[in-house]
Amino acid sequence: MNFFKSMNLDSKDDKKADLTKEQAEKVKCLIIGSGPAGYTAAIYAARANLSPVIIQGMEPGGQLTTTTEVENFPGYPEGVTGAVMMEDLKAQAERFGTDTRWGEVTQVDFSQRPFRVIVDENKAIEADTVIIATGATAKYLGLESEERFKGSGVSGCATCDGFFYKDKDVAVVGGGDTACEEATYLANICRKVYMIVRKDYLRASKPMQKRVFNTKNIEVLFEHNTKEVTGTNVVTGATLIKKMGTSEEEEVKINIDGFFLAIGHSPNSKVFKDYLDTDEVGYIQTIPDTAKTNVKGVFACGDVQDNTYRQAITAAASGCMAALDAERFLGE
Ligand code: NDP
Repeated sequence: MNFFKSMNLDSKDDKKADLTKEQAEKVKCLIIGSGPAGYTAAIYAARANLSPVIIQGMEPGGQLTTTTEVENFPGYPEGVTGAVMMEDLKAQAERFGTDTRWGEVTQVDFSQRPFRVIVDENKAIEADTVIIATGATAKYLGLESEERFKGSGVSGCATCDGFFYKDKDVAVVGGGDTACEEATYLANICRKVYMIVRKDYLRASKPMQKRVFNTKNIEVLFEHNTKEVTGTNVVTGATLIKKMGTSEEEEVKINIDGFFLAIGHSPNSKVFKDYLDTDEVGYIQTIPDTAKTNVKGVFACGDVQDNTYRQAITAAASGCMAALDAERFLGE
């Protein structure tokens, strides 16, 4: 598909039409996304003289900037805040010449090389290689109270933040494999874990369910929905609705210090979907043990292609792989 053909080039869309005539900027290695995967790819690409350009995206620094302390990234014995760690990674990438830019990629054309990428709908870049590191976004319920307590009791990642709730009571929302895994992980740390499940059964696989039911300090609240997360400065509880919409509907209050969402993630891959193979959820598929996608010269790393581990350290490692693959591709 030729995306310039697919674009609406009629007279009322002059701005987009101009893009076809514009002399695009040329880069060897364009990195899209600025989490641990993107910056690690940039460090390796810059040191290999690929003069990488990073387009930071809507959330510079990625998901880590929404967490508080990161204690499981090797090399930080005292821990580090997500925001500081991302600033460090950015500084390290820039030290070797990475060009970091504000902006969001709004369109791509991977049908021919060099690849064409449009930033903020008004800037065209031609790239010999593209590394996609756009991450994934944890899904939230959409409650106003949930938004208010993000980073002070509400979290989308038990592995990242669970330790801060040692010997406390917490809740995990969701009934899938992630929720069960996070609940059993938290049960090792916390005093009590509630699972808030909207249906009367768990969607998770049988072995996962078994682990949950065999863990004494997990209480599964079936047929419960969250009305709001409560507290003043930090989370101290949640108000739930049991059997919502039935004659037996009732309000239930629980006392908790942490409220964890485990209702799935959305990979940020929409803009690439016309060209790249993804799974049914949208995770970009890479050739096993590489960062290569189905388009030669386009690589993917980090959470946009990882539905399993989703850790900063695994994202960083795959960013390294993507840069090495890009360097080898350019050398061929
Ligand atoms: P899933 O989509 O499998 O499950 C999401 C859960 O969240 C479901 O129980 C769903 O409820 C619930 N949910 C969704 N939206 C809401 C909402 N608005 N309010 C309340 N509850 C909601 O996502 P997972 O992240 O658990 O898993 C994704 C994939 O990754 C799956 O294929 C899973 O098997 C896999 N995985 C495998 C693991 C392993 O094997 N170790 C570990 C983790 C994930 P409902 O059921 O009612 O729709």
